[in-house]
Amino acid sequence: MPRALITGITGQDGFYLSEHLLKQGYDVYGLIRGQANPKRPLLERTLPDVRIVDGDLLDQASLMNIIQKVKPDEVYNLAAISFVMLSWNQPELTGEITGLGALRVLEAIRLNAAASPSRSKSGIGIKFYQASSSEMFGKVRETPQNEQTPFHPRSPYGVAKAYAHYITVNYRESYNIFACSGILFNHESPRRGPEFVTRKLTIGAARIKAGLQNELVMGNLESRRDWGYAGDYVRAMHLMLQQAEPDDYVIGSGETHQIKEFAELAFARLGLDYREFVRSDPQFMRPAEVDLLIADPSKARRKLRWKPEVSFRRLVDMMVDADVEAESRVQAATA
Ligand code: GDP
Repeated sequence: MPRALITGITGQDGFYLSEHLLKQGYDVYGLIRGQANPKRPLLERTLPDVRIVDGDLLDQASLMNIIQKVKPDEVYNLAAISFVMLSWNQPELTGEITGLGALRVLEAIRLNAAASPSRSKSGIGIKFYQASSSEMFGKVRETPQNEQTPFHPRSPYGVAKAYAHYITVNYRESYNIFACSGILFNHESPRRGPEFVTRKLTIGAARIKAGLQNELVMGNLESRRDWGYAGDYVRAMHLMLQQAEPDDYVIGSGETHQIKEFAELAFARLGLDYREFVRSDPQFMRPAEVDLLIADPSKARRKLRWKPEVSFRRLVDMMVDADVEAESRVQAATA
């Protein structure tokens, strides 16, 4: 059985990727940070087949031990401080985890291979996936963005992700590690954290419909994003590691929509006009904004034969419906 180790297992992508790999017959190990991690019980309940290992991206020795113990065939580095707004408040921590965290995982792979050369007949045996981000394009230099588009990150998060991307490429070139960087555009689902704009809108719409609140305070509704469904995007992560050669790929839908279009569709799903409820407030505006993202995913289509299955509209509907259902479950439990 192939064995995968996933960092960031308790996040949205960790969940979908685990589910996908378990279906493919993998043994899945998930790295969990910290004592009494509040997300651990949910992980144990929803994905009982995932084996949990304790470690921290800030702790090089813990990563070395885990790689040695688990002996994974594939490592997916999904762990990060991933909320862009937070990265201005904790820029150093973001650099440590989102940026240097990738280096520490790569070092753990490299040093383990050096200690047991039998695993490294043709380079280092363990394959590595880095979760890179369209936020690296930031103030975009060209439209749409492809693998060759220069980076111009606009947040400490984007800067940290750019470091992690380049160190992944560098370890591939320096040590012959099978290391791939997936430059994923925004990807969402009912499991998206409530701090992200899509989920904030779908939870808000569901609560307004249920009469639990009457307005929703947002930030900049003008920016544009290329949104897809996380369940589609994790398939691309896995495909990258199954190719003959390691490489970098842009993964996105090739469509872009304004935040207010997402709001419009989400509220319309519930028969509401978002303009009556959604308000923009400076408290949610960012010091530097990424105005426009749109992927050119043609390389992934061509080489990985990957394409997304869930459309923008279906994604919005899926997220709204899930939040309406979750809200009615809470109501029923408290009635
Ligand atoms: P990001 O693209 O990784 O930063 O993903 P987000 O979902 O956090 O934000 C996407 C876009 O939505 C950005 O341009 C934000 O400025 C914009 N936005 C507008 N209002 C909000 C809000 O209330 N919360 C968040 N998270 N983003 C907002």
